[in-house]
Amino acid sequence: MFKKVLIANRGEVALRVLRTCRELGIETVAIHSEADSEAMHVKLADESVCIGPPPVSQSYLNIPSIITAATITNTDAIHPGYGFLSENARFAEIVEEHGYKFIGPKSEHIKLMGNKIKAKETMLASGVQSIPGINEIGSINQVKDFGKEYGYPLIIKAVNGGGGKGMRKIYDEKEIEDSISSAKKESLNAFGDDSVYLEKLLINPKHIEIQIIADQYGNVVHLGERDCSVQRNHQKLIEESPSVTLSKEEREQIGLTSVNAVRAIKYEGLGTLEFLYENNKFYFMEMNTRLQVEHPVTEMITNIDLVKEQIRIAAGDKMKMQQNEIEINGHAIECRINAENPKTFIPSPGMINRYHQPGGLGVRIESAVYEGYKIPSHYDSMIAKLITHGADREECISRMKRALEEYVIMGVDNTIQLHQDILKENNFVSGKYNINFMNDIR
Ligand code: ADP
Repeated sequence: MFKKVLIANRGEVALRVLRTCRELGIETVAIHSEADSEAMHVKLADESVCIGPPPVSQSYLNIPSIITAATITNTDAIHPGYGFLSENARFAEIVEEHGYKFIGPKSEHIKLMGNKIKAKETMLASGVQSIPGINEIGSINQVKDFGKEYGYPLIIKAVNGGGGKGMRKIYDEKEIEDSISSAKKESLNAFGDDSVYLEKLLINPKHIEIQIIADQYGNVVHLGERDCSVQRNHQKLIEESPSVTLSKEEREQIGLTSVNAVRAIKYEGLGTLEFLYENNKFYFMEMNTRLQVEHPVTEMITNIDLVKEQIRIAAGDKMKMQQNEIEINGHAIECRINAENPKTFIPSPGMINRYHQPGGLGVRIESAVYEGYKIPSHYDSMIAKLITHGADREECISRMKRALEEYVIMGVDNTIQLHQDILKENNFVSGKYNINFMNDIR
């Protein structure tokens, strides 16, 4: 097992990884920008290294600084968390070239799945269907023909995209040219590459994703699904597991399909296959080759520490659990608490001058903020995740309502009240909501 792990991240995920490291008896190194010297991950880590000024390009994305921090602290392995460099294949390569273990999949798999077209082609080779579309847009007429055959609306997406950026919906033939060029522009700005592809826009799908774990010896299991259909601007706001929509057979089938597809490419580590689900059909969208923000809901219903598994697998351990030993227990929901205006979703950085966290049975908080903490303006607005677990969905929802009521965050705008409102909506209560839920209730 590793002796020392450097956590190349900040905020709640840095703490999440740090806690598991400590349980495994691994020493931790925190890295931080000049804006984060008072951050909780810095306070709790065994060692910390300041790696640069506040802008992410000069700190959390600054590969030479991170490698230097690993060298001076004599680190064995680097955990990238999620976001930042977690899906940067070149970073994974550089980490390994310097003799550190990258706690995540091999760089070739990050590269393969990071390209959404290649990911779709790879999945298709294992019989996993994607949404009908055009991978390489040759001409406007080609899109027109596709529109005639499949009908509108369509959606343009960035090949190397993420975080819901670089997408444009097309409702009519006339919009094709403008949509392609504006999606290309946005993609170039956000991802440094302007390749885009086209898909049919599904009207009322659910976003359902499957969590998998694979070791270096070909053992692969899935841990069921997460329903992440409550989204704003294509970004997740609430996730839950299990999804009320899936039957036991559907769950087993999509789980098995995912396991087989991942095994076929000899994938290693944690991964999530994201699907859109409409009319009892699954359409593969993309694979995330990292730990996901919403992983706690899966942990709560399976009682498996995903970060512990991830670290053990990276250290070369053989996975002990078998698919038939994985039991799904009760229900879990996660609400993302963002420091932002709940109507406009504009970030609201600043000082938290009053803070009280909920507690009690079945309540879990993943957060790195505290009373007196000043949320910097340079980073993501998500400041906490509130997760509740219950014997069934009903109990889980009442527990979440109770926990949200207890939660006090003063000084910055946040999404607590928004979650309270969502939890009262009929379509949320029934579980029959789809990706348009937030637009429909506003
Ligand atoms: P990103 O990697 O930017 O998050 P995804 O491909 O995972 O992009 O899609 C994010 C969200 O965008 C989905 O959960 C869904 O709400 C919406 N979306 C993407 N593709 C489609 C599609 N073909 N039809 C309908 N909605 C879509």
